[in-house]
Amino acid sequence: MINCSAQAILSKIRCKNSLSREELIWFANGLADGMVTDAQAGAFAMSVAINGLGSQLARTNWTLAMRDSGKTLSWDVGLPVLDKHSTGGIGDCVSIILAPLLASFGVCVPMISGRGLGHTGGTLDKLESIPGVKVMHSDKRLVEIIKNCGCVIAGASADIAPADKRLYAIRDVTSTVDSLDLITASILSKKLASGLNGLVLDIKCGSGAFMTDLIQATKLAQALVKTANDAGCPTTGLITDMNQPLAPAMGNALEIVEAMRVLSGAKGSRLRSIAVFLGAEILTAQKICKNKRLATIELESKIDSGLAMDKFSKMISLMGGPSNFGQNFTRYLPEATAVIEVCSPHAGYLAQWDGQSLGNIVVNLGGGRLVETDQIDHAVGFSDIVRIGTKLAKGSPILKIHAARIDHAESARIQVLKALKISDAIPKETDLVLKRIT
Ligand code: URA
Repeated sequence: MINCSAQAILSKIRCKNSLSREELIWFANGLADGMVTDAQAGAFAMSVAINGLGSQLARTNWTLAMRDSGKTLSWDVGLPVLDKHSTGGIGDCVSIILAPLLASFGVCVPMISGRGLGHTGGTLDKLESIPGVKVMHSDKRLVEIIKNCGCVIAGASADIAPADKRLYAIRDVTSTVDSLDLITASILSKKLASGLNGLVLDIKCGSGAFMTDLIQATKLAQALVKTANDAGCPTTGLITDMNQPLAPAMGNALEIVEAMRVLSGAKGSRLRSIAVFLGAEILTAQKICKNKRLATIELESKIDSGLAMDKFSKMISLMGGPSNFGQNFTRYLPEATAVIEVCSPHAGYLAQWDGQSLGNIVVNLGGGRLVETDQIDHAVGFSDIVRIGTKLAKGSPILKIHAARIDHAESARIQVLKALKISDAIPKETDLVLKRIT
């Protein structure tokens, strides 16, 4: 054990001197075992948010120190262990499609996922719309599920990257979430602890994402991809558009419906396209498919043949849900009591969605949490959301609000109308994939 102290480390970082690997390991372990106090953790987060860690090497060392503050999962399956991570957006239920879709190629996908954060939804909350589904499992059970169906979507147990759990909570209340070094280490420490051989990152960019412009999104994407590769996990990333909901629905059960539609073979959605783009990216990077064209053909055929849906149904049943969910999904999902339509106030083209506002409206309807202890209403949200570029007559439907009470729905209607722009000119829909980062 090297001779370190939190004060000495904080003083170095405050004066922009770089920290050694040993010092970073000491601090991460101190966060995990309580040697570092909340005040020291807050000072660390603030210093890093202002000054940065100073180098790519320090960023990688910090990520590895956070990973090693807890245990690392291992799967012992003799197959490639792959995963996808999204930086978060609205109507983004790609994980629910991509985990079983990749598993249908004979690889393992242990997708350690999160809950809703800010205005964005969380995969675990979405899955819990399905009656009986449990998202927290013992390591032994995770291995059993993976061995049975090739994929599992689950929450991180307390001993995965405990330094991040502590620091994340402190960042949340010290205005230090928004730091390239801290975000990179936080996301990757958990992903690297899940024993991956390969990762594809979906870095969201636009009004519904945390990174609203391409310059910021590119910086985050480069930091994530470089750090993951330096840490020994082959990774590439796509920066993708998040200026409108990815699925035509937002909210937990309503997004499960959209994911089920794609897995049932429905074509033409942005959701299906992104799932296929990300799938082709990782399958070619991992040399499981020869090139993107062949990967795309195979991915489309595994959706259309029902193979990916079979994997999903099996995974849901192994996670405690109904045994025939895929075939009967509408029967099992909760429905809201108050459903109203929002119609266009005048003719024109839908030109813009304010994604963050849409996300916040769903949170306020009860679809997300305002404080950690809030109970989620899985049934609420939006469906039938029209895409940017849609031609609207006066009174054309724009989306449906699903709420627990009619007064909630009516107040959401007012907010939805403030979160959109209608123009006379035909707007251009942004490309889905904005940049590839290697
Ligand atoms: N998600 C995380 O896990 N950590 C961050 O810092 C941001 C998003």
